[in-house]
Amino acid sequence: MIAEKMKNMVANSSAIRAMFEEGNRLAEIYGAENVFDFSLGNPNVPAPEAVKKAVKELIDEENPVVLHGYTNSNSGYADVRETIALSLNERFETNFEGKNIVMTVGAAGGLNVILKSLINPGDEVIAFAPYFGEYRSYTNNYDGVLVEISPDTKTFQPKLDEFEKKITDKTKAVIINTPNNPTGVVYSEETILKLTAIMEAKQKELGTEIFLISDEPYRELVYDGAEVPYLTKYYNNTVVGYSYSKSLSLPGERIGYLVIPDEAADSADLLAAANVATRILGFVNAPTLQQKVVAKCVHEKTDISFYDRNRETLYEGLKECGFECIKPEGAFYLFVKSPLADEKRFCAAAKKHNILIVPGSSFACPGFVRLAYCVSYETIVNSLPRFRKLAEELKEQTDESI
Ligand code: PLP
Repeated sequence: MIAEKMKNMVANSSAIRAMFEEGNRLAEIYGAENVFDFSLGNPNVPAPEAVKKAVKELIDEENPVVLHGYTNSNSGYADVRETIALSLNERFETNFEGKNIVMTVGAAGGLNVILKSLINPGDEVIAFAPYFGEYRSYTNNYDGVLVEISPDTKTFQPKLDEFEKKITDKTKAVIINTPNNPTGVVYSEETILKLTAIMEAKQKELGTEIFLISDEPYRELVYDGAEVPYLTKYYNNTVVGYSYSKSLSLPGERIGYLVIPDEAADSADLLAAANVATRILGFVNAPTLQQKVVAKCVHEKTDISFYDRNRETLYEGLKECGFECIKPEGAFYLFVKSPLADEKRFCAAAKKHNILIVPGSSFACPGFVRLAYCVSYETIVNSLPRFRKLAEELKEQTDESI
């Protein structure tokens, strides 16, 4: 029989994945062009040409024994880590060295490595709802306890009063994600200053260390000139988790990195722990070919104008249908208020029109739904008449009659 802990995990297994599988099933029945699958954050923009070129060059020119071998350090190739550190220093006026970078198996791998390195059983990890639902599982992997801060459903900025009250002597880490999945909200510098001031004060008051884990797979995906502050500059005990899944459209390649600055408490120990965690969680090291690819593509960018056009068209189109939503400044998600009190019923009603969307309860924020607009422009345009029909249908119905 499977482990007790896994029984719960299987039972609560990601609604997002289930929806994606449903999308494939519907596409087989109705044809892919008649299914409007907004369920998964799988980028529809191809990786930049430079990625293809880098893969080809590496395969043709690198020693295959090195290229496909284990890396000599579990934290990654020294030259790759150095290149990434220098590029961060150029962009954000930081002073990292290669040793501050740990190559990871995407953001998911990075979060698991840092939580494994930090969490003792019973330690608390704070997250602001709505949040990426996997944070709960990742925390639970190390017998930590996820403490939730309720959402501010007007602005989706973090509720700092509640945050301050919920920090205890058990709080070991706070995870933030900006630009945010599922809301697309970017936390302003003012918010970051307030949040980090609270953490500084609480560390002093409680005599503890509280780590800020900045989960940043969407850092590069911002619109209208929005600025995303680099958090190590605001708070010493910050660890950044980065991923190339969305920034270079490489989600299947499983590549990212952690930044553990010298200023973080017990930085050398934390770096050593992250190195060992990478090994013993079974990753051993981040994929070697992909480490070299991202180092060659360190200045490359995805085509943000593609997502921006989708964002404008879907946001304006949904508003015209009467749906309520704040305009996202980043990532590629819209978080829409459900016209029905139970948003799962709304998702079910949408599915009847072959529209697949994810209930907000998957992100600890019921009453809303998430649409991932990293789909083709045609999907957006062709979905709008369906959304209009859905809106009209819902006007005439109550929760119970759906
Ligand atoms: N964190 C957030 C907020 C995400 O949305 C995702 C993926 O969608 C991840 C982490 C995991 O990303 P990766 O593919 O880099 O593991």
